[in-house]
Amino acid sequence: MTLIEELRAAVKGEVFGPGDPEYDVQRQAWFLLVDQRPAAVVHVTGTEDVQAAIRLARRHRLTVGAQPVGHGATQATGSEAMILLRTNALDSIDIADGVARVGAGVRWRDLNKALTGTGLTSLPGSSGDPSVVGYTLNSGVSWFGRKHGFASNHVRAFELVDAEGHHLRVTKDAFPDLFWALRGGGGEFGIVTAMEIELLPEPAIYGGRMMWYAEDARQLLRAFSEVTTTAPDEFSLWAWLINMPDLEMVPPPMRGRWMVAIDSTYLGDGDEAEKLLAPIRAVAEPLVDTVGLVPLEKVGEIAQEPEDPMPGVGKVVMLKEFGPATIDALLELALDRPQPSPLMLLEIRHVGGAFARPGAQESAVGTMADPYFLLLGGMVMAPEHAPALHAEISTVVGGMAPWTGGLLPPTMAHGEPVEDVYPAATLQRLREIKNRVDPTNLIRGNRPLV
Ligand SMILES: Cc1cc2nc3c(=O)[nH]c(=O)nc-3n(C[C@H](O)[C@H](O)[C@H](O)COP(=O)(O)OP(=O)(O)OC[C@H]3O[C@@H](n4cnc5c(N)ncnc54)[C@H](O)[C@@H]3O)c2cc1C
Repeated sequence: MTLIEELRAAVKGEVFGPGDPEYDVQRQAWFLLVDQRPAAVVHVTGTEDVQAAIRLARRHRLTVGAQPVGHGATQATGSEAMILLRTNALDSIDIADGVARVGAGVRWRDLNKALTGTGLTSLPGSSGDPSVVGYTLNSGVSWFGRKHGFASNHVRAFELVDAEGHHLRVTKDAFPDLFWALRGGGGEFGIVTAMEIELLPEPAIYGGRMMWYAEDARQLLRAFSEVTTTAPDEFSLWAWLINMPDLEMVPPPMRGRWMVAIDSTYLGDGDEAEKLLAPIRAVAEPLVDTVGLVPLEKVGEIAQEPEDPMPGVGKVVMLKEFGPATIDALLELALDRPQPSPLMLLEIRHVGGAFARPGAQESAVGTMADPYFLLLGGMVMAPEHAPALHAEISTVVGGMAPWTGGLLPPTMAHGEPVEDVYPAATLQRLREIKNRVDPTNLIRGNRPLV
């Protein structure tokens, strides 16, 4: 029997292999430029399917990786020697006693919806599209992280199939090393089938997006800098420079122009939030203004990020500060350059707060000392566009070097070496645990540790 025939005989879920008409669709990551060609794609329906895939991978000397969505896809995923597991069918959500148990296929939009109206929240990021498990295994930089820290640090238990095929419930007491590693160390320690998250009280959420033409960018970014310097931990503020495409879907006055967007959430009273936003509103009246009470289920829509798979390229660098000189440099690098620029967006996200304080419990994710990060993004609609985009990203990153900071949170790494993500001692401990629980390196994530 071929591998595909063996897999089909062993698992309940669908299996696709090279040569199947649907293989090219099934193998795709969300980042379409990552050209994955796994030996098989398996839609697992439960623990037994994961165990069967691991058993067969071992017998065929292949590797196994989980990829619910492909938001984190890098060249490390989907190699020809890998059985790629899609966990989307593991979509259960159970909420009881302040804890949510989520299956490994649950997306943030599903969990946010399930928690809406309960008075409880978890720690969602900017988009509703990533899987809760994929985001949390890799740290999780949430809208509410300034108040509560990384999402990883709020996991109570992981249910996982290890490299030997054993189904474990990993907790602080049962498998302390593995528990430490899974909280921020990524997907290299086993295939997670479900996760229990401790929920947090959710006061009303007030926030939304405001947009202006880029003519006001300098004053807006200065106001952003001023507000973020003293903002309470309940308040999150992100600023964007967005290069609106010259397409019919964009309203005519904004079409083909650079815009500024400022997104916010405040965990608390709307009047307090408006006081915090006042210096920004004082710069100029926004052209777009969605700020108001936000139900939890709509939090993933504030930043209006794309959800469909796309040929995107992203790069994040940490910023040690975001003062007037940083702003001048960034605007010169982004806007005072030949246009149209291949860059589509630059996001400055204010972090700090609880991200910069050690978590209540130790975990692989540690702390994020830098108070801001800068994300640069663009799209490669045709292969010949790639060099210009990469060159532009390098130019901006190079120009910002006087202000760029330290290690990246794992979810913001896009193929950078692990040394750019973890401090040396953390990396050493992650590698020791990986070698102990998976000595043949059967389980592969998007950020290889060994
Ligand atoms: C539009 C967009 C917005 C984003 N916003 C944020 C944000 O606000 N904050 C933030 O922190 N991140 C953000 N991210 C990054 C995203 O959270 C990470 O890339 C995350 O790892 C995606 O998880 P995924 O499961 O959706 O992606 P996938 O690529 O499917 O999975 C990523 C990796 O997680 C591991 N993994 C996933 N599931 C399992 C499993 N069941 N068992 C073992 N390992 C597993 C694997 O190593 C896999 O390669 C964003 C990404 C995009 C594209």
